[in-house]
Amino acid sequence: LRLVNLNRRFGIVVEDGVVDVAEASDGRFGPEPLGVLSRWDEFREWAASTELGPGKPWTAQELGSPVPNPRQVFAIGLNYRAHATEAETAVPELPAVFTKFPASIAGPDITVTLPPEGNVDWEVELVVVIGAEARYVAPEGAWKYVAGLMVGQDISERKRQLAGPVAQFSLGKSYEGFSPTGPYLVTLDELADPADLALSCTVNGEEVQSGRTSQMIFDVPDLIAHLSSVLPLLPGDVIFTGTPSGVGVARNPPRFLAEGDVLESSIEGLGTIRQRFKQGSLSPWAVLAK
Ligand code: ZN
Repeated sequence: LRLVNLNRRFGIVVEDGVVDVAEASDGRFGPEPLGVLSRWDEFREWAASTELGPGKPWTAQELGSPVPNPRQVFAIGLNYRAHATEAETAVPELPAVFTKFPASIAGPDITVTLPPEGNVDWEVELVVVIGAEARYVAPEGAWKYVAGLMVGQDISERKRQLAGPVAQFSLGKSYEGFSPTGPYLVTLDELADPADLALSCTVNGEEVQSGRTSQMIFDVPDLIAHLSSVLPLLPGDVIFTGTPSGVGVARNPPRFLAEGDVLESSIEGLGTIRQRFKQGSLSPWAVLAK
């Protein structure tokens, strides 16, 4: 299945458009993605046994994030060797976990306002969506807890991210619109090998990042096992799984996003998300990171 959030309602992509889940199920499932993800097995059974269609036409600009309001958002730093090297840090022995605050989650095709600090960077990432509560899960069974996968961008303002004395990863990566995801939530049966997908991103058409998800240091089952050993993962939770090399801050000279830039991020089998950037104005109350 390919699921979308079309005008704030969960829908299934079919040949000629999108089928609204709440309408097609006569209200058995509501329009909210999080409610459906909380009854994921029941929903999958219903979808498999139902004649879906006809669909309604749609455009990318109408799409919100397939999971617009997750309860928990996990993100993993330095999860690709070449990215750890370009960041001049040691390969981590444990997953480097931080959060992106849920209000930064945005749809796949949006305009992002650049904050005044200025050092805004790109990070294409595979995003995992949890489909069942996971606690003390072994890596061997961990894919069972995954509802599906999405394309994501872990957009990052580097000055605030690294501001001391305690690095502000979570805040520097949580400006409004900094966590675009989508365009679809794709279930694992749609993919030949969900553990080995090509991912890349371009700025104004020029490729800046390229890798494969099989190059992760801690793969998706490792991450679910690690996180669920600490706290429960809940249906609808999302995990940004880290970015391959090629980020702007590691370039010589560094390169950051500017007004008018277009960022496109793609993952094999999952689609493409697209952001345009415009310069924001300074809030009178802003305390800028140096
Ligand atoms: Zn990242």
